[in-house]
Amino acid sequence: MTIDGHYSGTGNPGFSLALAQVEEGLTRLDQWETFKVHQVDKLDLPADGKLRIPLKWFAVAPWWKDMAKPSMEHAAVNVDNVARVELLIRGDGKDGKHVFTLRRLQLHGKVIALNTLLMGLVSAWVLCAVGWLVAVTLSLRTELKDREAAIALLKEVNKALELEARDLAGQAHIDPLTGALNRQGLRAALMSTSSLLADPMAVIFIDIDHFKSINDTHGHDVGDDVLRKFANVIASGIRSSDRLVRWGGEEFLIVCPVTNVHQGRTLAENLRRTLHQQAWPVGLRVTASFGVAQHHERDAIGVVIKHADEELYRAKRSGRDRVCAYTPGETTAPAEAA
Ligand code: GH3
Ligand code: MG
Ligand code: MG
Repeated sequence: MTIDGHYSGTGNPGFSLALAQVEEGLTRLDQWETFKVHQVDKLDLPADGKLRIPLKWFAVAPWWKDMAKPSMEHAAVNVDNVARVELLIRGDGKDGKHVFTLRRLQLHGKVIALNTLLMGLVSAWVLCAVGWLVAVTLSLRTELKDREAAIALLKEVNKALELEARDLAGQAHIDPLTGALNRQGLRAALMSTSSLLADPMAVIFIDIDHFKSINDTHGHDVGDDVLRKFANVIASGIRSSDRLVRWGGEEFLIVCPVTNVHQGRTLAENLRRTLHQQAWPVGLRVTASFGVAQHHERDAIGVVIKHADEELYRAKRSGRDRVCAYTPGETTAPAEAA
């Protein structure tokens, strides 16, 4: 509040300013003394006559408290509802002429209607809520993006691991020395490729002759070279639908789908001859014995392998480097070595 005034007279007596407030429950509008009075005393006008008085300078007049005996709640400063402003010149007992001219009394600050204030508060609250929602949405979107990136990465890793697992599974089915299938590989091939068992199916059991003496005479490494080459020669002489299996040591098995025992014997004979035509490590002569048998639908796969093994044993006993075939009902002499 600013007062703009002028004093003239016999000695400046100072003045007080009072705000008479309507205090709910205590003030009766027709009784002026029931208005709650806030007062600031001993004010002096400066030379230019302008005095700025902050609201916090006002205190509730003690005489009003004595008279109204308000509760604690009503005793506090409250200038919300001021109905009157009073300016009091204090004579302080000095007689004479005192003239106080009030040119202007100005209240500073903004007057806000209750509705406007409430609207402002509600708008501010709505703005805060919208801001909060936007912030939460943005943070969720960032989190979602991070998660999507993590999922994409995991998928890639998973794919790589799947490929690796497939490679490892493949390796577990392959004999590392010769590249032929191992027994596990044969089992997997029989389980996954039903056409392998398509009747007629022939099995050829092969065993390298006197292989131990190759090892003994020329060493294990030469033995390995022979095994590698042997597997290569056999693999090159069979169809892509046939499967070459290293059964163990220097024993191999060929599974030939859509092949009867006679066709199997012819194939074995061709392979036996092919071995003769090879140039083997350290000028060796390498031969093998063959046992052939045909699978019958009613038999388990083990039965045909057993028959082929028996025929191989027969070929060994008959002098090696030959083919014997299991043809029940027929009497077949083992093919002689050429
Ligand atoms: P047979 O004509 O009766 O078949 O006689 P063999 O000497 O070929 O048969 P035998 O079963 O007596 O010997 C097989 C040898 O094969 C014995 C074993 O040390 C050797 N062998 C088994 N696996 C490997 C291998 O991976 N590398 C090498 N270098 N030798 C092997
Ligand atoms: Mg053997
Ligand atoms: Mg052998």
